[in-house]
Amino acid sequence: MLKNFDYSRRVKVEYETDVLVAGGGPAGLCAAIAAARCGAKTMLIEKNGFCGGMATAGLVAPFMTCYDSGGELMLIRGLFEEIVDRLVERGGAIHPSLVETSSAFTSYITDGHIHVTPFKAETLKLVADELLAEAGVKVLYHTSFLDVETEGDIITRAIIHKKDGLSAVEAKIYVDCTGDADMAAAAGVPYELGNNGKMQPATMFFRIANVDSSKIDEDIEKNRDKFRRVNGVNYRSLHWWVSKAREAGDWTLDRVSIGLFRGVDEDEWSINTSRIMDIDGTDSESLTRAETIGRRQVDEIFRFLKKYVPGCENARLVASGSTIGIRETRHIEGIRKLTVEDILDCRVPDDSILLAANSVDVHGKFGPLSNEYITIPPGKYYGVPYGCLVPVGIKNLLVAGRSISADSDAAGAIRVMPPCMGLGQAAGVAAALCAESRTEPAVCDMQKLRQRLIEQKVYLQ
Ligand SMILES: Cc1cc2nc3c(=O)[nH]c(=O)nc-3n(C[C@H](O)[C@H](O)[C@H](O)COP(=O)(O)OP(=O)(O)OC[C@H]3O[C@@H](n4cnc5c(N)ncnc54)[C@H](O)[C@@H]3O)c2cc1C
Repeated sequence: MLKNFDYSRRVKVEYETDVLVAGGGPAGLCAAIAAARCGAKTMLIEKNGFCGGMATAGLVAPFMTCYDSGGELMLIRGLFEEIVDRLVERGGAIHPSLVETSSAFTSYITDGHIHVTPFKAETLKLVADELLAEAGVKVLYHTSFLDVETEGDIITRAIIHKKDGLSAVEAKIYVDCTGDADMAAAAGVPYELGNNGKMQPATMFFRIANVDSSKIDEDIEKNRDKFRRVNGVNYRSLHWWVSKAREAGDWTLDRVSIGLFRGVDEDEWSINTSRIMDIDGTDSESLTRAETIGRRQVDEIFRFLKKYVPGCENARLVASGSTIGIRETRHIEGIRKLTVEDILDCRVPDDSILLAANSVDVHGKFGPLSNEYITIPPGKYYGVPYGCLVPVGIKNLLVAGRSISADSDAAGAIRVMPPCMGLGQAAGVAAALCAESRTEPAVCDMQKLRQRLIEQKVYLQ
């Protein structure tokens, strides 16, 4: 029988700050740097021992496109571009301008994958630390956001869990970049979980090395005419080997092809193929199931690669993600909502804080094998209005990253890392402006916000 009980503790307010950012993934990293660069006293808490979120802990790569759909104009710039430039300087990324579509770097996919950015997770961890330190952000790793105290519609304190126990932070403005909108949910902001409770499948990413990449290229070239889409299912890279393995009883997964993305090093690849349905990334029981199934799937895929795929005979498993990849959980209710129609009609509202052209990419929408993938018309892009970062109901909170106010399909487009970084940068600047002027994010001065973003090299036309 389940029992409830009340639990109370005396908690010390150890930190006071202008802006508190929870979660140091692509969105939170950029939010914290941007806020601090605007002069706000800024603190970042992150449950891992490093920043990057899915980009580091999840081993997700590459950064999806930052260009318009024709591949002519680099749209997502600002902090994203600065981070890429630092990575490139250290040999930890290939600049997207040099990466062609339909190549090993894009898993040989043509649509929507122009100018992606291969990068090394280890270099990103280092660059993130450097940029945060240079901006003067107070960073606290191994620290989880736990709860909020509210007075009416204001958050007065965030309760955090440090290694050494419970503690509290008082901030003027709170920025939720947990990916799951943990802080917004704790504060009572309404949200939708996935699409009416149904969320995109989870995936355990992994990396392999010691691959003879030229043999993979050759095999793909030989079989490129076999790429096809049938009943919502994409038959892409290596599906000819997957069907052979299935016939031999060596393949049990709900995937028909392999998502394989070459990394910065010539012999290294990221594998995005495992698929775990019906996972709720806000529930530890469900996450535990995903992790264990994910690792089993990695083992099966790795054995398949070594046995069937030319060039992978001597491959080494470098690592699987230290966390399962979660594509979708909560979408908060904001004062504006990004819809899939806004995206496909390429609407650019006056209060846009980010321009992007990422495709609508919803895995498993019509069953485990399927993918919905809708690209933006050539040369076009859409804008994300500021109000999507502003939750209803709480007056000193902003939300950035994959959990902004958007319908599930629209979130399927802006959930990738470059837009999440752009959303984080916008939230950080808005938080700093609001903390400085003691205004609520809902009435943030749009002209000032866009001007500051442009000064921080964000492309807004
Ligand atoms: C399988 C998979 C494949 C993908 N493929 C690509 C791709 O090829 N290219 C691409 O660009 N994007 C891809 N994405 C999308 C992208 O990785 C994520 O959507 C993006 O990282 C979201 O950024 P975020 O900052 O909102 O959240 P996250 O990256 O999830 O970061 C959230 C951060 O908050 C921290 N956190 C969470 N809860 C708490 C808490 N309570 N307290 C403290 N810290 C907390 C986490 O540790 C994490 O560091 C993929 C995603 C998945 C899952």
